[in-house]
Amino acid sequence: MKIKTLLGRKECAGCDDFCCKFEKSGRDAAPIFLPEERALVSREADGQGFLKPFKKTDASQIVLRKGGEKEYFCPFFMKEKRLCSIQEKKPFDCLFFPFAFMRGKKGGVYIACFNKKICPGLAKLKEGQFEKYVEYL
Ligand code: SF4
Ligand code: SF4
Repeated sequence: MKIKTLLGRKECAGCDDFCCKFEKSGRDAAPIFLPEERALVSREADGQGFLKPFKKTDASQIVLRKGGEKEYFCPFFMKEKRLCSIQEKKPFDCLFFPFAFMRGKKGGVYIACFNKKICPGLAKLKEGQFEKYVEYL
């Protein structure tokens, strides 16, 4: 089952694409594709070097491309249109944003949410929309 996203085009309009653009120090956070998600984008990704094996797992991670002085972009991102070229085939990792699984310092895994500075669309949500989505999760 495909997860619903919290933010849609309305909330993302005018954003500086923070979820598809990474700083050098944040490159480790490039989205991950599970094998079944990877299979869906074989037409777009095969032979392009867009994805690489993720550590010692059967998942794949996006290989970011340098797009400026300090910026790195997802290769599926169409800069001119400011759109994802695999919109209907985005992996869970992208659909889940601005939420992310984090490893706790003392072990365990928890869900964190980026703030409005990283994801400005959060500020455009209607009252109760965030809480409703958290309940859905
Ligand atoms: S796959 Fe699409 S949504 Fe995900 S980071 Fe790349 S361009 Fe952005
Ligand atoms: S950072 Fe947030 S508001 Fe901006 S495009 Fe991504 S999801 Fe939308």
